[in-house]
Amino acid sequence: MATNPIEILKQRYGNLVPTARLSDGKPRSILFDATKCIGCRHCVQACKDWNEHDRTSLYELSPTNWITMEPPVLEGLSPIWARNSCMHCDFAACAAVCPVEAITKYEEGPVVINQQACIGCEYCIHACPWEVITKNDITGKASKCTMCSDRVSEDKQPFCVQACPVGAMDFGLTEEIAGKARKQAEAVGGYIYGEREAGGGGVVYVLKESTEKYGVRNIGAAKFPKHRVPLGLMLKDLFTPRCGIPGKLRALYLAIIHPKRLMYRYFS
Ligand code: SF4
Ligand code: SF4
Ligand code: SF4
Repeated sequence: MATNPIEILKQRYGNLVPTARLSDGKPRSILFDATKCIGCRHCVQACKDWNEHDRTSLYELSPTNWITMEPPVLEGLSPIWARNSCMHCDFAACAAVCPVEAITKYEEGPVVINQQACIGCEYCIHACPWEVITKNDITGKASKCTMCSDRVSEDKQPFCVQACPVGAMDFGLTEEIAGKARKQAEAVGGYIYGEREAGGGGVVYVLKESTEKYGVRNIGAAKFPKHRVPLGLMLKDLFTPRCGIPGKLRALYLAIIHPKRLMYRYFS
């Protein structure tokens, strides 16, 4: 029986989410330890450096800011901090609703939006339980953290992890990271967040206080959670030229060859 989350995913849901391999196929995870974080935002700056984003909008997610530290106040003005970025879900609702299959879950962990394939329909933005996808008004494409898939494919850690000056983030094989998270949670009398939320994924947190205090969302354990793409938006796409004819033709073709995806999008 398969134990790899991607294999399990394929067995249960067929082609609900496009999957692919970057390198060795071994799942990796990011660990964020809130008990060590000092809110310095070196990770936020590092993300901008690696992805060549401009220096604006440190405090809210945007197409040029793929990670924030919550709450959005200056260092020293809050006692606790939490990472806010893509959780790289194993059962990624964003990927399951994308009508043109522009979002891929890689076996090594990253969930990545293909900028060339995206038609800007915004379904993924509505579907993500953590609301971490934003739309670039200039390119018209959806945008979010990639887990530095380009670095992961070269067996390097994400740049934000590397930049943390106090070791509040770690990266490695999922099993090892899960062990470290458990050990640290026990040591500080805290708990793990991200292992069960929306079926789990490639980012786990060690938290000590309640989720409310960190401003972290309470998300159920359901895999492929019920999405919130407005029906009106989907109907608009069926009956108007929104998002372009080539995108519509591709969506139609994919709906015919992957009907389970259509069921999830319209009846979830
Ligand atoms: S956190 Fe949101 S954007 Fe990231 S993989 Fe999960 S559903 Fe997609
Ligand atoms: S905006 Fe639409 S086409 Fe682009 S990635 Fe999101 S769901 Fe797919
Ligand atoms: S993993 Fe990479 S893309 Fe994601 S927040 Fe960190 S530096 Fe940015």
